[in-house]
Formats: sequence, C-alpha cells, structure tokens
Amino acid sequence: MAQPVAFITGITGQDGSYLAELLLRQGYLVHGLVRRASMFNRSRIEHLRHDPAVYGKSLFLHYGDLQDATALRRIFRQVRPSEVYHLAGQSHVGLSFEIPEVTCHEVGNATLGLLEILRDQDYPVRFYHAASSEIFGTPESSPQNEETPTRPGNPYGCAKAFAVHLCRVYRKAYGLFVCNGIAYNHESPRRGENFVTRKISLAAARIKLGLQDKLNLGDLDVRRDWGYAPEYVEGMWRMLQQPEPDDYVLATGQSHSIRDFLSAAFARVALDWRSHVIFEERFVRPTEVNGLVGDPSKAKARLGWEPKTRMAELAGIMVDADLEAQRPGA
Ligand code: NAP
Repeated sequence: MAQPVAFITGITGQDGSYLAELLLRQGYLVHGLVRRASMFNRSRIEHLRHDPAVYGKSLFLHYGDLQDATALRRIFRQVRPSEVYHLAGQSHVGLSFEIPEVTCHEVGNATLGLLEILRDQDYPVRFYHAASSEIFGTPESSPQNEETPTRPGNPYGCAKAFAVHLCRVYRKAYGLFVCNGIAYNHESPRRGENFVTRKISLAAARIKLGLQDKLNLGDLDVRRDWGYAPEYVEGMWRMLQQPEPDDYVLATGQSHSIRDFLSAAFARVALDWRSHVIFEERFVRPTEVNGLVGDPSKAKARLGWEPKTRMAELAGIMVDADLEAQRPGA
C-alpha cells in the first residue's frame, strides 16, 4: 500500500503540532503550510524541524497563506495529499470581535477555497474541517450533538458555521469525503498565551515562582467544555479513517466555569486564586455564549474515541508545564 500523505494547514498551531506528531508516528509523509511572519513562528514544531530523521524526510513545510489560493493549488499539485487536515485560521473568539473581516476570510472563505481545490482533484482526497462548538452559540438544548441547529453568537462562530454548512453541501453535492469535527474547547501546554486557560496556568506558575503577582481576567462565570488537545487530534485522524465521511462532536460532555479552572490551576501550586485575580472589564466580550457542552456519543460509538483527561487534570498538566518552562535557567 502507498505511504499515506497528509497536508496540514495550521501545522504551527496547537492542534497542528500534535497532529503532525501523531501522523508521523503512524508512518505518514506530512506536509505543512506555514505562513511568512517577521519572526519565526514555529516554536511548537521546532523539535520536529531539528530532528534530522524527520525534517526533509517525512516532514516538509511549504510557505503559503490561506488567502493565497494560487499557492495552495500549487502545493496540492506538488504534494497530492491523500488526507487534508484544515486547521488554520484566526482561532480566537474574543479577537473575532476586533478583526471580524480577517476572521471571516480565513475561517469561512478560505475553507470554501480549499473545498473548490478539492473538487478539482482527479483522485480521491479526504478532508477534515476544524469546526467548533461556537457554531451553536447559545443553543436551545444541552448537550449539543451533530444535529443541533447552528446559532452562532460571535463573528468566529458565524464564520465556522458558514464553513460547516459548505462542507456539508460539498459532501452531498459532489460526493467529496469531507468531515466536520465539531470540537469543543481543547487545551494543552501549547495553547496560545492569550487564551484564558493558558493565561491562568501561566499566571499560576509565575506567581508561584515570584515572577508576577496579579492576573487580570473578565467574567469568571463563563462556562466551557474543556478537553485535552492531544486526545482531540486522535479523533480528527479517526474521522478520516472511516468508510464514509460524516460530522462528529468531540467533547468531554462536562462543563466548568473559568472560576473552576482557576481554582484547579492555583490549587496545583497551593495558592488561593482570590488573592491574585483582578476583574478587568475589557476582557468581557460584547456577547457571551452560554450552555455549550457537547455530547460525544457518536464519536464514541463510531470512532471508538473517548476523552480521558478531565478539567482538573488538564489544569494540572498545563500548570506543571508552565512551572517547568518558567523556572530560572529553563
Ligand atoms: P491555533 O493554535 O491558533 O493555530 C492556528 C493555526 O492557523 C496556526 O498554525 C496559524 O499560523 C495558522 N493560520 C492562521 N491564519 C493563517 C493564514 N491566513 N494562513 C495560514 N495559516 C494561518 O489554533 P488551534 O487551537 O490549533 O486550533 C486549530 C483549529 O481548530 C482552528 O481552526 C480553530 O479555530 C479550531 N478549533 C480549535 C478549538 C480549540 O479549543 N483549540 C476548538 C474548536 C475549533 P501561525 O502559527 O503563523 O499563527
């Protein structure tokens, strides 16, 4: 059998880096899209780039951008991927209120552009789209599943919902192998530092080490269904190994507040978060979604996928990693 070839957009991101590791372990040739930045933005895959047994042998990086369809078509032609994992795009919900046009171009239109490229291929390609629980906004029912109607509550959710529906249309209209992975929040030590869980884990570690004293946060009552990113990329891969394409919710089925996460993270370093957290109005979003908790039973039944790491353990993993990284001399 021919060696499987994967193309990952967003390989430099949290999920892309874990997915690249997973696919390399599975014997794939992995091609990743990287965009030009004024500083190198590849810290999450640096260990792979510096591994002479991997880089240039089973891992290849290509300059490009979601907004550059010509470059993307060229990469498709050169690489001829058997599986495409489309993870790239502006991924911060709060920021999508600040930069809605970029968000909609990257998250919505760029996905359409990739579907069009897929449609033009003369061989079968399997496509994973990184959809999000934010498509449900403030849903009428909880937990949500693959049938729950979309009702987004922010520009990011609107763009993801647009892309989800297009993926469904292209699957039906053109018979393409396209899967929406409707993922609920998933975190890790590689989460971007401007996401609330990582802000908290980093602050807990830095306060413990005496490098910082205060942490500014918005509404602590906001609730999310938080899982562990390395487990979620396994679900993405499993979707593309099924005989038929479909949509799947990836979630833990449990929701916790930011206050709960704070409490777990600070407990890990034996600190009381109440002595350090300051409320800051600017972190409160113009609209906040509520009641997002996913029902992963279809993924469990069909993919054999089940999340193992729960919120408190996740907070501990993140705090431990930040403590290690922040220690003087690390
Ligand atoms: P992330 O860490 O923010 O990574 C985003 C990736 O997209 C980065 O590699 C980034 O490149 C790349 N990117 C952004 N704009 C691009 C552009 N114009 N051209 C090319 N690449 C571009 O996000 P993540 O947490 O790994 O999430 C992966 C995907 O899943 C995203 O689409 C996100 O919206 C979705 N998702 C995530 C979660 C979650 O909880 N993590 C939940 C549901 C859905 P740079 O490194 O150069 O910035």
